[in-house]
Amino acid sequence: MKDGYPKEIRDVAAVLAHAGFEAYLVGGCVRDLLLGTVYSEPVEPKDWDVATNAKPDEIQKLFPDSVYENKFGTVGVKTDSEDQKLKIVEVTTYRIEGKYSDKRHPDEVTFAENIEDDLSRRDFTVNAMALGMVNEESGIVDPFHGRKDLEDKIIRAVGDPDARFTEDALRILRAVRFSAQLGFAIDPRTEQAMRRHAGLLEFISKERIRDEFVKLIATDRAHEGVRMLERDGLLKFVLPELEEGVDVGQNKHHIYSVFEHNVRSLQYAVEQRFDTDVRIASLLHDVGKPRSKRGEGPDCTFYGHQVVGERMALEVLDRLHFPKDRAERIALLIREHMFVYDPETVTDAGARRLVRRVGKENLEALFQLREADRIGSGVPKAQPYRLRHLKFRIEKVSQDPISAKMLKVNGQDIMQEAGIAPGPKVGAILAVLLEEVLDDPTVNDRDVLIARAQNLARLDDKQLAEMAKFARKSADEAQTRVEEEIKKKYYVK
Ligand code: ATP
Ligand code: MG
Repeated sequence: MKDGYPKEIRDVAAVLAHAGFEAYLVGGCVRDLLLGTVYSEPVEPKDWDVATNAKPDEIQKLFPDSVYENKFGTVGVKTDSEDQKLKIVEVTTYRIEGKYSDKRHPDEVTFAENIEDDLSRRDFTVNAMALGMVNEESGIVDPFHGRKDLEDKIIRAVGDPDARFTEDALRILRAVRFSAQLGFAIDPRTEQAMRRHAGLLEFISKERIRDEFVKLIATDRAHEGVRMLERDGLLKFVLPELEEGVDVGQNKHHIYSVFEHNVRSLQYAVEQRFDTDVRIASLLHDVGKPRSKRGEGPDCTFYGHQVVGERMALEVLDRLHFPKDRAERIALLIREHMFVYDPETVTDAGARRLVRRVGKENLEALFQLREADRIGSGVPKAQPYRLRHLKFRIEKVSQDPISAKMLKVNGQDIMQEAGIAPGPKVGAILAVLLEEVLDDPTVNDRDVLIARAQNLARLDDKQLAEMAKFARKSADEAQTRVEEEIKKKYYVK
């Protein structure tokens, strides 16, 4: 990466230049390259976009191994890069966009003559810079002073904010997302225009809203972004159900309103770098409370709010066109988030039932959600050791029990194959076999065990009883050893 950008990009630019065309890096990658000079650490661009004055057919001629899939001027140039992000370099003809009447793609694409015009259709000044890669024009093209805004950490619409948000209202959510992603403030004029045009989000496709929402949730300041959505009157177009909890007071076990608690739970999930699904579950986990609230003041109740919340989450996520399995997983976490983990109350059977309801693969996420709930309450009263205790119980019940049940033969087999009658001898033989299997799991084979049982059956009763006594003692010790290890793992005293 000699010039701050990869060889594959330089190669593409060189081919364009050789044919007499211009080539610039544009958009997010320029912003991210420059961010590295503002923050002390480099920021790795998510993708590399090249803009050129060559028309799509001209680009295709220069790069026979390329694909032109859409009508928006972007040609995908294939490279032999190892890097997933560089296998296809997107080369886009300078363009200005018409109206987005389907609110998804511009109705028509008009190619532009120069890079400045191309930059003028972009959303924010920090996203509207280009970096020349062909000698004569090398350097930054920055007609909207994005570099200054980047240094001042400001998200500002390019040109007239009202015009930008009217053209494409998704930009309103993009402003919030970039603000959270970059830790930038939104310029007041831009933010006022966002509030003014919030209603236009109604017409934006749910998929586009979902994608921005998920990107927001994945940032390190997702919780601040959600607060901004609420403050600026945007939340009702993204998650109206979440807004129901604003100023809804809780009972004596809480100090925050329902909304505040949901956001704080998200914040904890973000700080712990929990995955996006757990973050969304944390944000929505008490979404059912306003509708299940009974009474007022310190003694009000929210019985069944987790079930109401499960249903609401499914509605929310379905409306945003989340894939069904993902929506169901998040809703399941919400439904189960009230699980009991009081060591005095939870039995092995209870732990087993929880595992069955939630699924082993979702347990970790459920514990994370519960932790986020606990910390997000601001008054974490439950003791973390209790949660660890439950984890220990669960691990114990989901482990193969160290008992005669794990043997590949049972008492019936032994009586039949070794020709002995029911009685203590059967139990003794099983105990010896178990001890031997614990010692060497490879002997847990039906034929091997039956042969061994036939030998043991020939011993006299006293000798066999002695062996069994020894075997049982050592099996007990093995069980204790396993439990000790699990306990250590979860620091359960
Ligand atoms: P990141 O990839 O980190 O999410 P990005 O800035 O690359 O950020 P993309 O969505 O990949 O964002 O878009 C690339 C560029 O295209 C942006 O930097 C911006 O210049 C422009 N752009 C994208 N979407 C819009 C839009 N809705 N309106 C105007 N310009 C846009
Ligand atoms: Mg990008």
